Amino acid sequence: MCGIIGYIGNKKAGPILLDGLKKLEYRGYDSSGIAVIDGGVISVIKSVGMIEALDEKCSGGELLNGTVGIGHTRWATHGAPSDVNSHPHLSSDKRFAIVHNGIIENFESLRTELKSLGYKFVGETDSEVIAKLIQHLYNGNIISALRAVIDRLEGSYAVGIISADKPDTLYAIRKDNPLVVGLGNGENFIASDYTAALEHTKRFVLLDDKEIAEITATSTKFYDINGKLVKKTPYTIEWNIEEAQKGGYNHFMLKEIYEQPKALTRTLRPRISGDEIKLDKIEFDAEHLSSVERIDIIGCGSAYHAGIVGRSFIEKHCRIPVNNFLASEYIYSDPITGPKTLTIIISQSGETADTLAALKLAHSRGSKTLAVVNVVQSAIARAADDVLYTHAGPEIAVATTKGYTTQIVALYLIGLKMALKKGTITTKRYKELIRGLTKLPDKVEDMLLETEVEKIKEYAEKFYNHKCVFFMGRGTDYAASLEGALKLKEISYIHAEAYAAGELKHGTISLIEDDTLTLALVTQEKLYHKMESNIKAVKARGGTVIALASRANSKIKSCSDLLLTIPECDDDISPVLTAVQLQLFAYYVALKRGCEIDKPRNLAKSVTVE
Ligand code: GLU
Repeated sequence: MCGIIGYIGNKKAGPILLDGLKKLEYRGYDSSGIAVIDGGVISVIKSVGMIEALDEKCSGGELLNGTVGIGHTRWATHGAPSDVNSHPHLSSDKRFAIVHNGIIENFESLRTELKSLGYKFVGETDSEVIAKLIQHLYNGNIISALRAVIDRLEGSYAVGIISADKPDTLYAIRKDNPLVVGLGNGENFIASDYTAALEHTKRFVLLDDKEIAEITATSTKFYDINGKLVKKTPYTIEWNIEEAQKGGYNHFMLKEIYEQPKALTRTLRPRISGDEIKLDKIEFDAEHLSSVERIDIIGCGSAYHAGIVGRSFIEKHCRIPVNNFLASEYIYSDPITGPKTLTIIISQSGETADTLAALKLAHSRGSKTLAVVNVVQSAIARAADDVLYTHAGPEIAVATTKGYTTQIVALYLIGLKMALKKGTITTKRYKELIRGLTKLPDKVEDMLLETEVEKIKEYAEKFYNHKCVFFMGRGTDYAASLEGALKLKEISYIHAEAYAAGELKHGTISLIEDDTLTLALVTQEKLYHKMESNIKAVKARGGTVIALASRANSKIKSCSDLLLTIPECDDDISPVLTAVQLQLFAYYVALKRGCEIDKPRNLAKSVTVE
């Protein structure tokens, strides 16, 4: 679930590990630790809480000598955050140290078995069984021991291993949890996330499920579960280390909001040439497309919301019924799917466990799967039949911003391409939308100008103490409201709800009282009048309304209390622009409330457990 970094080379490992852990901080964690081999002895230092505490305890990593080591940031799943439960964990003979991300589902039976054989456990975490199991199955050959370990472990894991018996080698195994090997010059790395090693290398090799990596400072070898050598092709990650650093911003979230013009350009530019949309290797086969009777769009959290925005666009232009599913619900719902359904899977990290399970289920029932993913070579990207990368760059803040808006734009591109192939859109409308899309990055840039942002800051100042905020809209504005409410909830801890504005009179209006704040999204011309009535209904009950409308809509100003605007834009693609305003609103409210914006309580960035 959380972060792993491993180093082998000729530099002191401690400071490199510590630095890598700091890069992984954004994933959310409750404790951390490092283990380094020196003179055939493994030394471990751990600490509960912030990395700074670990940093202090080991003097920035300098306290440990040795050039081989592993580090971990833990997000506890089994056993409270404590020194004994944090990683690295040692085998009983202290000859092996491991760090683990994920969950070992059969840890209790393994623990009972190992205990009966005399192994002593010091904590409650599931991960500890891995260290003891390696010792138990080790017979002088670490690769054989790790193959046997893989055979015995159930659940999900990415594991980094060092051994006092092989002090010049670093090992890793994985299943259903990301782990990459970073290739340096005279040094190599293991990491659960590119950003942890990005400062040292851009060349990576991906470890596949049930494979073993055997890494020295100058070589890498990979084995499959049968012990056969596997040949791997390294690839290059086109991310910059600057993108994974704050670069003058107080928070990653704010930086990532401001990166949206660039991120959207990266999603759009390589795919639009003139009036043609080229979706990398994705060619919608006309025959397959004509057999598709419905589309299922699946995601979790904001990705699910992006899917809802995508649904209205795709349905409208492709004339195919689209269903949205939460991945966690889909996998237990016995879904009606098959060759006549196209399944679109959305995940920023490409590692979301529920979403990956949904993809596999859809696939097993014969549906073609198309993934919209940011992280290159991630599990979802590799498991899907087709993948469209959003190329948003590394997203560090837990609350997604550029990850979300680039997903929407990717869905627009997919929808437009399909609509043209199916002949369900006129050339005129198609061209209008292409033009609209290419202008989006500039429009976002325009919105990020100080004057607009100042207004948002002023409203945040006014309303940050509210206990509850409503968002309402119709059609795509409703879809955008869902994400606006989630953003506010996630980072400011204010209770926020999104409602389809037409539903107000069917119940929700009873919640409106004096001074209740409602953000009303009004970007679609054909729905102005309906929204005007909804706004008036809220105001008549004493509520305060901030309308979020197109700059062209002068009328809405007179019926709402306050106004936020977006530049004029095609109604069909406005959710990208409204998203930016709502992100800024959530950000400044959270800032005013003194919240930990980049790492909201209880949340982790990439949820690799179900
Ligand atoms: N399940 C393990 C634990 O609770 C690992 C959690 C993680 O991925 O950080 O220690």
